[in-house]
Amino acid sequence: MQFTELGLQADILRAVSEQGYTTPTPIQQKAIPAVMTGRDLMASAQTGTGKTAGFTLPILHRLASGSHSHLARVTKKPRVLVLVPTRELAIQVEESVRTYGKHLPIASLAVFGGVGINPQIANLRRGVDIVVATPGRLLDHIQQRTVDLSAIEIFVLDEADRMLDMGFIRDIRKVIALLPKQRQNLMFSATFSPDIRELASGLLHNPVSVDVAARNTAAETVTQRVIETNREQKKDLLCHLFATRGWHQVLVFARTKHGADALSKTLEKSGIKSAAIHGNKSQGARTRALTDFKEGKLVALVATDIAARGIDIDSLPYVINYELPNVPEDYVHRIGRTGRAGMEGEAISLVSHDERPFLKDIEKLIKRTLEREVIEGFEPSATAAPRPVQPPRGPRKPQPQGKAPNRNSPQKPGGPQQHRSGQRHR
Ligand code: AMP
Repeated sequence: MQFTELGLQADILRAVSEQGYTTPTPIQQKAIPAVMTGRDLMASAQTGTGKTAGFTLPILHRLASGSHSHLARVTKKPRVLVLVPTRELAIQVEESVRTYGKHLPIASLAVFGGVGINPQIANLRRGVDIVVATPGRLLDHIQQRTVDLSAIEIFVLDEADRMLDMGFIRDIRKVIALLPKQRQNLMFSATFSPDIRELASGLLHNPVSVDVAARNTAAETVTQRVIETNREQKKDLLCHLFATRGWHQVLVFARTKHGADALSKTLEKSGIKSAAIHGNKSQGARTRALTDFKEGKLVALVATDIAARGIDIDSLPYVINYELPNVPEDYVHRIGRTGRAGMEGEAISLVSHDERPFLKDIEKLIKRTLEREVIEGFEPSATAAPRPVQPPRGPRKPQPQGKAPNRNSPQKPGGPQQHRSGQRHR
């Protein structure tokens, strides 16, 4: 199938072909016609499937097909609201709107916190057709009456599962309550928990369901493997892998902000150009790191799960899990950063003994046993017991050498805290 067969406006098709895209991805083939007819949509799709264009293109088509007197430059009221979990995603979705809408008289704006509110207010005042927002900042605008949602015709909830994970459910409900009853609703989610289903059943009316990647399965183009090692060897192992495998553009996941910073510094010290992005970094620093990474000025970008959400790089070849996430769905999100739009990708997880329970949970979720690998010189402690990094407080019997570390043994500062397992999100 070709994009030209979908019935999209010529100005939109021109922008699509300027991007070099000729064939719609499976989700685009299904979602675009449904959204063009005005139906509600429930799509089970991960990032990397082309879902953003899947909703952006038909939305632009609908706006452009209406009378120009409805445009926000005349009415001063937005007509489309896209809610997303993070500022990175807000920026990227709005960029897509701009890209595909560049030949149309349609204005868009990304609305997110951590930056001055006044430029956003000025833009909203001038009239913006499509607002792509994170919930917090949108509610600030609502409170200050600097945005008027009374003319919203289409509402999109993107990455709904992540929004709930991040605790946005009340904010989402507040926003929905302000929207006109008569509207089109589109919802995207990579995973389907009972909470997501409940939200969908309240939001969507007789939706078209699109299920592209089977639920919770990792993109098929991603090669996934596990390298078993010891926790205290991971840094050296990672540097070794960079040195021996000629990697470039590697997204490395760490579990904590502190861990991400420390790892980035270690990589820099061993000559690997690197930066860390996480919630404590300013918006400017994050955007700069992301740009440098995309342009190839950085070899590695070390990120926490939340900061990496929405990172959209066309051909990201490698994702490294320096530490496994303790929520198995996060693994699926992480590896969804590579192998996008049919390109090959490799996801490598460095797994120490204490992370094996997480690995088991992940394998259960993705219904697949991951290939194990051991690198010479970095073998896990089945053959060489790790030294405890921190001596335990108080009297303690010495550990016999050669024994696998106890899951409850003291952890290195900044390392994963087993007892926290499962506390996040749930
Ligand atoms: P998304 O799932 O929306 O994050 O998109 C994943 C990536 O695929 C983005 O970098 C898009 O630019 C790219 N993309 C979207 N649609 C197509 C298409 N039809 N053909 C090739 N690449 C696409």
